[in-house]
Amino acid sequence: MAIVAGIEGGGTKFICGIGNEKGEILDSIRIETTSPTETMDKIINYFQCKNFEAIGVGVFGPIELDRDSEEYGTILSTPKIQWQQYNIYKTLKEHFNRPIVIEHDVNAALLGELTWGAAQGLRNAIYYTVGTGVGAGLWLNNQFHHGELHGEIGHMLIPVLEEDTPKGGSCPFHKNCLEGLVSGPGIYHRFGIKGEDIPQESPIWDNVAHYIGIACVNTTLAYAPQRIILGGGVMNQEFLLKKIQEHYLDALGGYGQKKIFIDVENFIVPAQLHNDPGLMGAFALANKILL
Ligand SMILES: [Zn+2]
Repeated sequence: MAIVAGIEGGGTKFICGIGNEKGEILDSIRIETTSPTETMDKIINYFQCKNFEAIGVGVFGPIELDRDSEEYGTILSTPKIQWQQYNIYKTLKEHFNRPIVIEHDVNAALLGELTWGAAQGLRNAIYYTVGTGVGAGLWLNNQFHHGELHGEIGHMLIPVLEEDTPKGGSCPFHKNCLEGLVSGPGIYHRFGIKGEDIPQESPIWDNVAHYIGIACVNTTLAYAPQRIILGGGVMNQEFLLKKIQEHYLDALGGYGQKKIFIDVENFIVPAQLHNDPGLMGAFALANKILL
């Protein structure tokens, strides 16, 4: 059984761990995200005394993912200034002579769902994380869809309801994009209350479900996936899924090109990996490169 290393790189913390082919976490450590040199030194120290066959990294972006590029693994224009132009791949490769694969964090989480969770066996699946930000991973025709860079459909523009026009969303770039409207900070910006404090019967959840439902319609029309998987902190409100399914059908307006798109209970589903999906996704990346 292959033992692999996984790194889940986030803006506040890096979770590093050792796992197996079943995605089981055999060991893990949390490292605060500070400067690249300090953070990566701790990561290298952690892995130096471990045995593993490959490293999978799921990290915040934007990041260069073109394997033919000299810049593969370089973090691009992140607001985390110290990390701009930092190449994670090169640093790891200098210390570990093993296969290393880098992916955007949401794509890594999607690969975890494809390997062990809600997207097993699918050719076309789209994963949204709705939390501090909104990100999406795209798996189309059995591969990640990257384009010239990974997409950022968490920033898709959404028609805003009349009742929301005075204030609008929180995105500094677009105001009323999906992230600006339904991320945790977006909800707080618009309603002055944190998601976990909003009661289930509040109309705020219908508002949030409306916008996520529209995003699911846009996603379906653009990519025609077999399934849309919704994860992230906001989706911990389990009752929200049913509302999203209803708003999706409503916004789709009967435009069902194929049966699977209107079989909502199987089409829009919750993420299944709750025990650190980012780290499990990183293990899935490492396992995949060994195949
Ligand atoms: Zn935006």
